[in-house]
Amino acid sequence: MNAQIRRNIVQTSPMRLSLLALASACLASTAWAQEPAYQASEQALELTVHYHFRNQYVYTQDWPVEQKAAELTNVSVRNVASSASTNSQDAFNLMITSGDLADIVGGVKDDFNRYGREGAFLPLDELIAEHAPHIQAYFDANPDFRNAAAGADGKLYYIPYIQDGTLSEGWFIRQDWLEKLGLESPETPEEVYTVLKAFREQDPNGNGQKDEIPYFARNQGNMLRLMNLWDARVSGSATYGDFAVYDGELRHPWAEETYKTAMSNLAQWYAEGLIDPEIFTRGPRAREYLLGNDLGGMTHDWFPSTSTYNVSLAETIDGFSFKPMLPPKTISGDRFEDARRQIVTAEGWGISVANEHPVETIRYFDFWFTELGRQMANFGVEGETYTIVDGKPTFTEAVLTDGQPVNAQLWEIGAQVPRGYVMDYDYELQWSNEIALEGMQLYEACDCLKPDFMGVALTDSEKAVYDRHWPSILTYMQEMQQTWLLGAQDVESTWDDYQSRLDQMGYGEVLEVMQTAYQRQYGATQ
Ligand code: CA
Repeated sequence: MNAQIRRNIVQTSPMRLSLLALASACLASTAWAQEPAYQASEQALELTVHYHFRNQYVYTQDWPVEQKAAELTNVSVRNVASSASTNSQDAFNLMITSGDLADIVGGVKDDFNRYGREGAFLPLDELIAEHAPHIQAYFDANPDFRNAAAGADGKLYYIPYIQDGTLSEGWFIRQDWLEKLGLESPETPEEVYTVLKAFREQDPNGNGQKDEIPYFARNQGNMLRLMNLWDARVSGSATYGDFAVYDGELRHPWAEETYKTAMSNLAQWYAEGLIDPEIFTRGPRAREYLLGNDLGGMTHDWFPSTSTYNVSLAETIDGFSFKPMLPPKTISGDRFEDARRQIVTAEGWGISVANEHPVETIRYFDFWFTELGRQMANFGVEGETYTIVDGKPTFTEAVLTDGQPVNAQLWEIGAQVPRGYVMDYDYELQWSNEIALEGMQLYEACDCLKPDFMGVALTDSEKAVYDRHWPSILTYMQEMQQTWLLGAQDVESTWDDYQSRLDQMGYGEVLEVMQTAYQRQYGATQ
């Protein structure tokens, strides 16, 4: 564990700054700074909770984190969701249609906004302003985050799980292959071409066969990530194939001229064998297979998991070194990273209309935004999974050296579960390996992450337009992506037809409702 790198990342993260602002805002609310600082109810109060999440978990009072929270807040929760269900959406729908609403309901943004407008969930803004100073301070410091979670009527119906740290993925390259071939880490599209070509032609794995796969990827978002070299975007958000914001205007990156140029070039690279011939079909084990068999040269993927191959393959592949590198500069001289972690997630919890204690409930929600509540939501129970070292929550040695991944250990005790809370990036840094940390430090210093489109809430009529046109447009875009890359059609000569087809399919109408919704949602803050 490299403490220096960790400190550097912590110091340079913009999110840290807003959290510092939040911390001082918390100190200012003196009524909550002392005992009984965390009490949400004078009398001991039990609230029912229905939160089935990620198709396999239920929110439960049995978690040690929840028991500690009940002690501090005087509010305990009792799970009423069936743990037998294996579909969280079904479990939610079943509860809604039964009409038997739990006091606290967990779910996803679209459902809160839909059923909230229909009256099943309480609008939270006033409750927050009057009774939840820590949540209020957080949203005051981050108005866009509040707006991202709000419904089409502008009201907030759920408290989202908010992630910290914006980096997720980066570029990785076989550093030992570069060295073997006397090449530098590529800095321009031309140099990327040269390197991939050399990987293809010069037998860097030394087995006498031309079996290297220069660029590979294990998921959709990264199959075409090389398009960034021509300034094209894979997505405008953490969701694959999402809209992007161009100077305050929403458009889709796959209808842009930069995309045309990118696809033309990628088709050429594919034809020359620089991109995995099975890029669309190899599937999620591509990384494991191609690295494990000493075949893959370059990819774009998550920092932590991709870095671990340096450890797991150290014994089997002589000199194996798969290192993060900065995004190469684009053809226009820009340098950017397109992949990011979603900050305001769709997951979270709200207060149902059946709840007779909304004030106590919002105070209980507020607990998770206090310093201690946030610590517990991220690190577990002090003295058990973490201790405070130099003023910072720090995992115990037992947690860090346990055979199970740290996040899996935390889920079992009720930490890092998607209640409404703010993640602490440091929780992850404490168990990331050195190479991942070095990669993230490179990217932090680069500060080249594209800002993300945080999504919009559509009104019923806007949603009708979107649903009528968008799914088939997206399918068509993806079909053409494959058609072009695999060389079945030529990009240049079919681009105009592609554009007219998008128009015929309703691309313009979709953009119009998206733009209206976008301005309504973020107009005041952007
Ligand atoms: Ca070879």
